[in-house]
Amino acid sequence: MSMNIESVFTALGLSEAQLNAGDLAVTSPVDGKTIASVAVHNSNQVDAAIAKSRVAFEQWKTVPAPKRGELVRVLGNKLRDHKEALGALVSMECGKIYQEGLGEVQEMIDICDLAVGLSRQLFGLTIASERPGHRMTETWHPIGPVGIISAFNFPVAVWCWNSALALVCGNSVIWKPSEKTPLTALACQKLFDAAAAEVGDIPEGLSQVIIGHADVGEQLVNDSRMPVISATGSTAMGRKVGPAVAARFGRSILELGGNNAIIVTPSADMDMAVRAILFGAVGTAGQRCTSTRRLFVHSDVYDELVPALKEAYSGIRVGDPMQQSTLVGPLIDKQAFTNMQSALDLAMVNGGEVLGGSRALQDTYPNAYYVNPAIVEMGETKQTVQEETFAPILYVYRYNDLDEAIRLHNDVPQGLSSAIFTMDMREAEKFTSAVGSDCGIANVNIGTSGAEIGGAFGGEKETGGGRESGSDAWKGYMRRATSTVNYSTDLPLAQGIEFNL
Ligand code: NAD
Repeated sequence: MSMNIESVFTALGLSEAQLNAGDLAVTSPVDGKTIASVAVHNSNQVDAAIAKSRVAFEQWKTVPAPKRGELVRVLGNKLRDHKEALGALVSMECGKIYQEGLGEVQEMIDICDLAVGLSRQLFGLTIASERPGHRMTETWHPIGPVGIISAFNFPVAVWCWNSALALVCGNSVIWKPSEKTPLTALACQKLFDAAAAEVGDIPEGLSQVIIGHADVGEQLVNDSRMPVISATGSTAMGRKVGPAVAARFGRSILELGGNNAIIVTPSADMDMAVRAILFGAVGTAGQRCTSTRRLFVHSDVYDELVPALKEAYSGIRVGDPMQQSTLVGPLIDKQAFTNMQSALDLAMVNGGEVLGGSRALQDTYPNAYYVNPAIVEMGETKQTVQEETFAPILYVYRYNDLDEAIRLHNDVPQGLSSAIFTMDMREAEKFTSAVGSDCGIANVNIGTSGAEIGGAFGGEKETGGGRESGSDAWKGYMRRATSTVNYSTDLPLAQGIEFNL
């Protein structure tokens, strides 16, 4: 890759003034250097952004949905045109490898396509009325400005999952990106502005970005002019945001932490399992909400699978995420490294056998935090690790009975993604049934990470219960109206009630 950061800034239209506008230092996890200092929005500016968003909503909700889809279609094309530059900026700002940066932009393009199709549907229901000469329908209407709070590890896709749907649904949006990744957000805003200019007659402030730390997000969360808050991040964040939105009777879509696992049964295709576990556990340096964190291996295949996995780990190339040969880039920051080391120390205290986990490339990048991904063999236990550590640690457990493995699998506070590797139909069906995985995503012979946008994405329990992306997730961005029309000359009351003078 010959792209340097200046050429990426230029390709995305980020100006010198914007990159030196304030006090929020943006540090690249690649080498720990400051690459920009952007301006943070103060409380008055956030307030003004919300007011503007409400005005934009009043106009946008009157535009026919297929016309709203046209804006999202053009946005998708802007993303296609800038895929390489935006993918590179994702890589430079959050540290994921360039291939995954490109994948993230592709996901944005895909959700735009989905949203464009959806803009010609947004269908309701016709429901049988119990009264003669009556028709009952259910219709979906725009709901209002949608607040989007996003995490550092999917710095751009999360915005698009939410905004592509919210926009075709007739809403305005305000995005508060992670304070660790504001540049990709500013770049997306440029692409949105270009799309809006090309389409023409788009309300000002239809999509806005506000930059800042948690307090800026809190202001959105607490403002009743924002009927929907979609918040992606840690469970600790969701624990604050969920109750605050509920307290004002707003709606929240929470996409929080995971503690995802794969079960490998005796009949599994071992080559496929190893590849899926490897990508799930070390991809994005273990910094995906859907990263594979726990592995349950049947005793019959343990001594085949685990050595094969260790062999695969020995070939992982850790390094500069922009280098084509790199599979694992850096952790986001020093805190993430410290958290990983604490988790490994605790695993050892609990009898785990740790392979890997040390800091890498310290001489080349003294201010960045690269690690060798860790495998921790925990043996056969009655309880598995309960916390999400956002780093490449794979806890491996031995099991003998599938029901016990499923019990252990589910016995954690989180419920995002899960998978089983098996060729046995009964095992596969059980895992995806009501007595199987309790997660929002339950896969067979596919790993835990890398969901397609066509399905609803999200998880249960402390993962927050929200759903985004495909299926009927769009309903989260609309309000529902049940309408009964009486075309008869009588006024029969429901439930047969007589109420005559
Ligand atoms: P984080 O919780 O530290 O921050 C996420 C966002 O929330 C940031 O924009 C932050 O400024 C904001 N925020 C924090 N406290 C807030 C508050 N009280 N009010 C309003 N906004 C607040 O998370 P992170 O470290 O950026 O991301 C990693 C976490 O995100 C992991 O737990 C990961 O599993 C999770 N995640 C979940 C999904 C999902 O879809 N389920 C996707 C990506 C990441």
